[in-house]
Amino acid sequence: MKITWTLIQKQRLIELNATETQQDMYFESVQDRDRTFQEQEHQLVVHGKQRLQELRDIKRRPSLCILEQQLVSALTQRGFVQVVTPTIITKGALAKMSVSDEHPLFFQVFWLDSKRCLRPMLAPNLYTVWKDLLRIWEKPIKIFEIGTCYRKESQGSLHLNEFTMLNLTELGLPEEQRLEHLKEYAALVMDTAGITGYELEMTNSVVYGDALDVVKGIELGSSAMGPHPLDDKWGIIDPWVGIGFGLERLLKVRDEAQNVQSVGRSLSYLDGVRLNI
Ligand code: ATP
Ligand code: MG
Repeated sequence: MKITWTLIQKQRLIELNATETQQDMYFESVQDRDRTFQEQEHQLVVHGKQRLQELRDIKRRPSLCILEQQLVSALTQRGFVQVVTPTIITKGALAKMSVSDEHPLFFQVFWLDSKRCLRPMLAPNLYTVWKDLLRIWEKPIKIFEIGTCYRKESQGSLHLNEFTMLNLTELGLPEEQRLEHLKEYAALVMDTAGITGYELEMTNSVVYGDALDVVKGIELGSSAMGPHPLDDKWGIIDPWVGIGFGLERLLKVRDEAQNVQSVGRSLSYLDGVRLNI
């Protein structure tokens, strides 16, 4: 019988961001395994400490914040305007996204009281801002937000309860240019994040119906287009496109992190490095 890591050893290796190859090793004996574990753990700890030293001496900011800054700069250079809206939203705003009682996302919402919750997405606020800007600015209106969204998730390596969403939108573009613009904006975000070899896949979103996803092994982003049945409730009639990306997922893929937890808001990790080393 081939000998593999114990559960505790494997868990520790994942925490320390061991590669898949390191995680899937086989051994001839228990002694051999335990000795290898000590060596591997030691190397990973040394590497983690080096990364933290580099953070202290040179980098000074976590990749999550740097990526956010790079995206802000790339998007504003392309004519997008950044907005910052409340993380507390109303039940009414969610209902206008068709997220109410029967909806799958409804059960993922953190409620503050009977009327208010922590936003699970940026779209309701962006719809609201669109509506006002339409009266003031000429079309197309290109706005984006980068901010925390909250969802009750059954954890796993791809889901955080609080994650950083980028949602970029363009309202009032020619209808026939929607797909082309979506592809262009997806490419802009991927280039800025330093991710190559991604794919665009047609899927079905719980909120928007048919959607074009940005995928590289995992879902990185999800897009939508209007005119859309939801638009009516927001008083929007112009064509639009929008894409939402999880920044932690972009970092997971780019930096080959084992999970989104290590690169997101955390007390256990600092910039991808486990702190109990
Ligand atoms: P999934 O099916 O993987 O749960 P989703 O369809 O719920 O994703 P969307 O609602 O389309 O995701 O959100 C847009 C993007 O936000 C996703 O493509 C993903 O990158 C990111 N995202 C969504 N939920 C989470 C989460 N709980 N933690 C981290 N990132 C997330
Ligand atoms: Mg989900």
